[in-house]
Amino acid sequence: MKTAEIKRRYLAHFEANGHTVVPSAPLPAISDPNLLFINAGMVQFVPYFLGQQTPPYQRAVSVQKCIRTPDIDEVGKTSRHGTFFQMNGNFSFGDYFKEGAIPLAWDLLTRSAADGGFGIDADRLWVTIYLDDDEAHDIWHRKVGVPAERIVRLGKGPNFWSMGIPGPCGPCSEIFIDRGPAYGREGGPAVDDDRYMELWNLVFMQYERGPGTGKEDYPILGELPAKNIDTGMGLERMASVLQGVDNLYEIDEVRPILDRAAELTGKRYGAQSGQVASESHPDDVRLRVVADHVRTSLMLIGDGVVPTNEGRGYVLRRIMRRSIRAMRLLGWQGPALPELLPVARDCMAPSYPELATEFERISQYAYAEEDAFLSTLRAGTTILDTAIAETKSAGKPALSGDKAFQLHDTYGFPIDLTLEIAAEQGLTVDADGFRRLMADQRSRAKADAQARKTGHVDLSAYRSALDEGGPVEFTGYTEVSRESR
Ligand code: ATP
Ligand code: MG
Ligand code: MG
Ligand code: MG
Repeated sequence: MKTAEIKRRYLAHFEANGHTVVPSAPLPAISDPNLLFINAGMVQFVPYFLGQQTPPYQRAVSVQKCIRTPDIDEVGKTSRHGTFFQMNGNFSFGDYFKEGAIPLAWDLLTRSAADGGFGIDADRLWVTIYLDDDEAHDIWHRKVGVPAERIVRLGKGPNFWSMGIPGPCGPCSEIFIDRGPAYGREGGPAVDDDRYMELWNLVFMQYERGPGTGKEDYPILGELPAKNIDTGMGLERMASVLQGVDNLYEIDEVRPILDRAAELTGKRYGAQSGQVASESHPDDVRLRVVADHVRTSLMLIGDGVVPTNEGRGYVLRRIMRRSIRAMRLLGWQGPALPELLPVARDCMAPSYPELATEFERISQYAYAEEDAFLSTLRAGTTILDTAIAETKSAGKPALSGDKAFQLHDTYGFPIDLTLEIAAEQGLTVDADGFRRLMADQRSRAKADAQARKTGHVDLSAYRSALDEGGPVEFTGYTEVSRESR
């Protein structure tokens, strides 16, 4: 089943059950100073949950564009994490609660495809509930008929949902699919498990968190004015299940980008990997990273984000650079985006026609950014070549930490690239020296950031978005502070 069809069926199912179809909000979370990007379907409805505004409908359904930069390190390595993805969701504002949400979800999942559902075999589905949520247990078991041995009670981490910032929250119940013995141990969903993939989260939005001292301990202020429902079903994950592919980079809306990257670089995707995503050859991981990041870049620029040195624009810049770097590591030297971005557009424009009409503008930003980055790489390479020649003629085995740091700091030349090129020339890099200089600079930057009191909740997300994936160092704070001062 095509991704677009899954989306259509989802909307139709909930519309037939009294939900108003609400369009996706744009990716930049402009309504919430604590968030860079929309990371869940519920974000645009927060004022309704909190009782600050009266919703014009009591039931809503949407397909929300989402960005999750904290997941960036998972991309390509797990089968289920994209930096961009679409979250299908149905919402009740003081209308139905658990007794409504659970059967509505189950019905869509298990109804036959011929009859407008997703046609998933009920025996493959598992559910989790929050520790003491006997009410949810009862509905799953008695009303829906899920055998008790496939209902798992889990604690706060997985089964008490909140935004990661002050706002509405509550216990949740999640639906998982068993992907079969090829994916490892049986026994039901556990944290970070390959075999049981989380498909759908039903949040029983009942409490409110207030500002606190840190991300983990925003205290619960009390009950919300009403009991609400917020659900999120990963569209790409569902597509991977219904299309019978291993991971979300292989679904119809993503795979053509991956294939084009493989074609350009002469790689045979999957040829060197094990059967499942977790046993992947590094080249396959890179191809998935390229596919994911190119699509994410397209969607971000499409929603008005442009590459800059701060905030949202900086996240975009790093994501673009990661995709360009991955192409380079795959062996492609020239501009990659003119080859890949049009493919991403063709994948996504059927659902988001503005990507086609706006493509001229989108691609201008993207191609200019890539050109600039490629010249950074070229400039850095010249300096590095000289340094390598000097190191060699001095008979030293390692490039100095100073030089690596200077390349990184002054020329924006990524450290993993320095390592790679040095290695090609039979040299190592004084990683300790480099780390020391980075640590010094990072603590300066931290102090600086503290002084400016950015208080940005998504900073940790940033950190990973900024890290170009090398095992050596994280460059985010330093670059952010250096360039945005
Ligand atoms: P996981 O534990 O697999 O990381 P999650 O618990 O963080 O998922 P939720 O916050 O519950 O995810 O979001 C609701 C749904 O959105 C998930 O059940 C999943 O189907 C989907 N989803 C979440 N993160 C991603 C992602 N990075 N890429 C694709 N789909 C995602
Ligand atoms: Mg997650
Ligand atoms: Mg989860
Ligand atoms: Mg979840």
